[in-house]
Amino acid sequence: FSSRYYSILEARTKLPVYQFKDQVLKSLEDNQIIVVEGETGSGKTTQIPQFFLDAGFEERGVIACTQPRRVAATSIAARVAEEMDVNLGEEVGYTIRFEDVSDPNKTVLKFVTDGMLLREAMSDPLLLRYSVIILDEAHERTLATDVLMGLLQELLPKRTKGSKHGELKLVVMSATLDAKKFRDYFHGAPLLKVPGRTHPVEVFYTAEPEPNYLEAAVRTTIHIHQCEGPGDILVFLTGEQEIEQACEEIREKALALGQDLPELVVYPLYSSLPPQQQRQIFKPAPGPRIPGGPPGRKVVVSTNIAETSLTIDGIVYVVDPGFSKQKVYNPRVRVESLLVSPISRASARQRSGRAGRTRPGKLYTEKSFHNDLQETSYPEILRSQMSNVVLTLLKLGIEDLVHFDFMDPPAPETLMRALEELNYLGAIDDDGQLTEVGYQMSELPLDPQLSKLLLISPDYGCSSEILSIVACMSVPQIFMRPRESAKAADAAKAQFTHPDSDHITLLNAYAEYEACPDSEKKKWCWDNFINDRSILSAGNVRKQLMGLMKKLDLPIVTSDRKGDGSFAYTDIRRALTSAMFMQVAFRQQSGVYLTVKDNQKVYIHPSSVIISRPDWVLYEEFALTTQNYIRTVTVTNVDWLVEAAPHYYDLENFPECQAKAELERAYSRLKFSK
Ligand code: ADP
Ligand code: MG
Repeated sequence: FSSRYYSILEARTKLPVYQFKDQVLKSLEDNQIIVVEGETGSGKTTQIPQFFLDAGFEERGVIACTQPRRVAATSIAARVAEEMDVNLGEEVGYTIRFEDVSDPNKTVLKFVTDGMLLREAMSDPLLLRYSVIILDEAHERTLATDVLMGLLQELLPKRTKGSKHGELKLVVMSATLDAKKFRDYFHGAPLLKVPGRTHPVEVFYTAEPEPNYLEAAVRTTIHIHQCEGPGDILVFLTGEQEIEQACEEIREKALALGQDLPELVVYPLYSSLPPQQQRQIFKPAPGPRIPGGPPGRKVVVSTNIAETSLTIDGIVYVVDPGFSKQKVYNPRVRVESLLVSPISRASARQRSGRAGRTRPGKLYTEKSFHNDLQETSYPEILRSQMSNVVLTLLKLGIEDLVHFDFMDPPAPETLMRALEELNYLGAIDDDGQLTEVGYQMSELPLDPQLSKLLLISPDYGCSSEILSIVACMSVPQIFMRPRESAKAADAAKAQFTHPDSDHITLLNAYAEYEACPDSEKKKWCWDNFINDRSILSAGNVRKQLMGLMKKLDLPIVTSDRKGDGSFAYTDIRRALTSAMFMQVAFRQQSGVYLTVKDNQKVYIHPSSVIISRPDWVLYEEFALTTQNYIRTVTVTNVDWLVEAAPHYYDLENFPECQAKAELERAYSRLKFSK
């Protein structure tokens, strides 16, 4: 082993969880399920899986540790590989959607997103590869973790000690959890509590509610830098754009303060940041400007990933405006969207706990904590659209969804809606049985509508183009529009614009990128205001989806018969219509659009290329902001819709309105042409 190994080892043995090693192992030897609760930073995630390796569990099967977030899975895997002095991807690896850095013959410890483990269960329903499943961050109650918990309830009795396939152990782990609820759910499993080392945290509230929390966060950070003693700062914001903007502003302001203050380095942290940049946050703060002077300071501006999943040592100050992006689903109107929402009180407490790990800390936050915040947020399962989960459960052979052992069962109405949608997509028949199409859809790691889109694309002679479009939709925004060069960005985008379709506009940009020689790709992206990381990962995603399509025996055909970039745009739009017929809006006389699904008033998002106001449009995303927007939009028409989905556009169920009259005419045209 290297000397670094020994120095890390020394630090590891000082983590609180180390004192509990024997107790954890003994408890897991005696029980099939254990629950571990321990302060963030106590060493649960990095150490407990290694305890199981030390105890030789890997001889019985691989050890899996789930994480709700991709960043956490990759970064923790890298850290543990380093601690064990092995190469990442060999003994220790990770699997996240569209990226597998593990070796089926070598990997004994795998960090995996909860969603990917669920996916694995589809092809290995008894999880035979595994000897221990660790469900980490269980308190977050993500949709996939909740479903995994229900699934393990059914599975564990089939894999007890002495059973044919050997015992499967389950460790449920978390920073804070409703211990009683979890223990009741897991039949009174023993609970181990790991205390943390904490110092008191002083709390400062802003005097007045802040109208602009981003600006306030930047101002507070600079204030701490000017007025407070040494110690790093952690700032919580909600997403990539906000975080990049805040980092920029903090850097500028710190620079303007000149050389009298210690050096300040600023790092962003969010999920779409490349791994090397993510790992920067663990670098120690810079040293003093002059020997013996005050040390430099590190600022990390992060999404709520730093709330419990990752621990950054040295944080003394936490700036928490109290917001995060949360998935919100309204089953009545059947829309799911990401909204910047106030965090729960439990989250706020976790965030404040990020300060004061190594010495007393300070928290700067808004006053609303005691008055306005909910105690805990609702589990995601009660806030989500369920068609993907339902498809997964059906594939797993679970047909009685109503009696599936969810910790918090979703409303029957939500499940019914999901079944209905899957039925319209042809994934299940009228008896609720998976169809051939349904099986194929469940093989693709995409939402049901996008899976369906890939499956039908060969029928329209454009599977190659649809692959590119779906890949571009599966990665963060490809078109960039920095505020200071919005005009130039718009001009660049205009080269790719198809006036009837944001989807095709994405395709056109992607096709040019592909055609560009590798050595010039980076420059091309820069010149055209294309996010190079996003489009690079789109290429990667495309390759993987193409592999899956080939496995399903689906032909990859291009509509560009001459190979000169003349795509059959109509065929592409018809393919989109055939899969996305539930996400359609029609224009009213007033010019406002109404969604077909639920009669919601919506507007086409200003980022759309569509400036004409066509009668019928399909859309990818419903964004709730100050008003309801639909985003990533393509013009469609009523004839295509009734042809693609006569069941959905059933006149008998359609409310009396202008669109109904149009539908009626379309049906008679269809009948006539037949
Ligand atoms: P928990 O899961 O209980 O929140 P972790 O196992 O994630 O705790 O982290 C324990 C400690 O390991 C952290 O406090 C930090 O000191 C250290 N650590 C974790 N990841 C890294 C990393 N990537 N680089 C340096 N130190 C790390
Ligand atoms: Mg952890």
